[in-house]
Amino acid sequence: MKRVILELRALSKYYISEHAVVVGLNSVDLSFRVGEFVAVTGESGSGKSTLAHVLAGILPYANGELLLDGSRTPHYDGADWEAYRRDKISFISQNYGILEGLSVGENVTSALRILGFSPEEAKKQAEEILHRLDLFELRHRLAAKLSSGQKQRLSIARALAKPASVLIADEPTGNLDRENSEKVIRLLADAARDRLVILITHEFEEVAAYATRRLTLSDGKVITDAPLREPNV
Ligand code: ADP
Ligand code: MG
Repeated sequence: MKRVILELRALSKYYISEHAVVVGLNSVDLSFRVGEFVAVTGESGSGKSTLAHVLAGILPYANGELLLDGSRTPHYDGADWEAYRRDKISFISQNYGILEGLSVGENVTSALRILGFSPEEAKKQAEEILHRLDLFELRHRLAAKLSSGQKQRLSIARALAKPASVLIADEPTGNLDRENSEKVIRLLADAARDRLVILITHEFEEVAAYATRRLTLSDGKVITDAPLREPNV
């Protein structure tokens, strides 16, 4: 069994406004290992996006603990969380998170340059990733001009460019047709060979053939946590 990389202990997240306190996550205990491809399901409003954003270090949590690689995080300040998001997590959202004003190639090389790659290294690495995602022929096209399936593949290319061991995707197939969804899911399943991949979906069927584990949330709680097949080791 590969190592536990991400862990939540009795973690709660509340949304507090002037008028109300809404529970996003209610005392969640979870641990995730490298090699897992975890499908997170649940009805709308059950806390899936909250879980994705807390794990990605995008949303702060109130109570409990989040541990990465066994290290505790309660003392983290803004700069620590920024480094956590930059170095540890690849995050893919439903609205792509690509740079529309740059070309396809530049979208990937810029992601690599931020991580300290030289221009030559970034170009070489980007070309390899673009080939893998069937985007190499489109490398000079402006990202804004891509179809939704191509945009989502590009967001995955940017995420994969980063050597982070955790990839979190919040409903990445929400805007895609069946064929493109299938492609995206297969790419994510492939990425789980040497990382932890957590995929939020409201349509479990699309990932049933690939996921190694299924979590179901309801009212901010994990109501089922079922192994489906052996994780990649
Ligand atoms: P899901 O992704 O499963 O649809 P969310 O994590 O988005 O669920 O939401 C969980 C609960 O938290 C819901 O009741 C939702 O209304 C509430 N919520 C989410 N984001 C906010 C926010 N920014 N402010 C207040 N409440 C929120
Ligand atoms: Mg959501």
